[in-house]
Amino acid sequence: MSARMPVVFVSHGAPDALLHAPETVACWRRLGQQMPKPAAILVISAHWEARKPTVSLSGAPVTLHDFSGFSPTLYHMQYPAPGAPALAERVATLLSAADIASDLHPGRGLDHGAWVPLSVMYPQADIPVVQLSLDRTASTVSHAAIGHALAALRDEGVLIIASGAITHNFGWLDRQTENATTPLPQAKIFTDWIADRLEAHDETALLTYRTAPYGAEAHPSEEHILPLFVALGAADGDKSKRCCPYFTYGSLAMDAYMWGAAAQA
Ligand code: ZN
Repeated sequence: MSARMPVVFVSHGAPDALLHAPETVACWRRLGQQMPKPAAILVISAHWEARKPTVSLSGAPVTLHDFSGFSPTLYHMQYPAPGAPALAERVATLLSAADIASDLHPGRGLDHGAWVPLSVMYPQADIPVVQLSLDRTASTVSHAAIGHALAALRDEGVLIIASGAITHNFGWLDRQTENATTPLPQAKIFTDWIADRLEAHDETALLTYRTAPYGAEAHPSEEHILPLFVALGAADGDKSKRCCPYFTYGSLAMDAYMWGAAAQA
């Protein structure tokens, strides 16, 4: 049996992070190099919400360019990693064992929450990738339960990557400032609160993040923070390590977190 794989949360930023956020890109590259090579990857992205957790079954997922108004360079990018239908079925089985109903989606491709960081972490696109959707009706607690149900995958060589954002308020964006050294104070306060509570293993506080300073303001809608709770559940009590503590566009926190043995190396 392989050693237990880490769990990773990445803030994927704006789609143009690949072109304009060199510090974050370098950090994602280090993350990919630091971890043992996975047999397969399961991505939970903010950019796929469904009425129940849904798993991508495609053996050859297409690259989705699910954004508008960015450089043509991004629309030409492809991430031709294979899918892993057997892993998709395994995800559904594990969820079912935890009394969580799920669906399989035969044609779903990879959204930019998945392929933007993957294209840096695993540029050869040779590791099979499956995506799992968020449940748009479910709470932080339910998403942690989804992650916890999937923790066993870590013993099967599967790297779980949750992709969202620590802050995601478009009203806070300063579109002139691609790489901010002095972020909006509210964004920094909430980003530091998350880091502090993760460091303290304070799951109770994290699950009720909306009552934290600027918590509700940092996430006018919840989809970009919910992947963090899937990661927290999958982390299964492991200690976290904060990575990529940068800001883009004045308020978009790019923090990543890693849990597991690789995080302590
Ligand atoms: Zn996003």
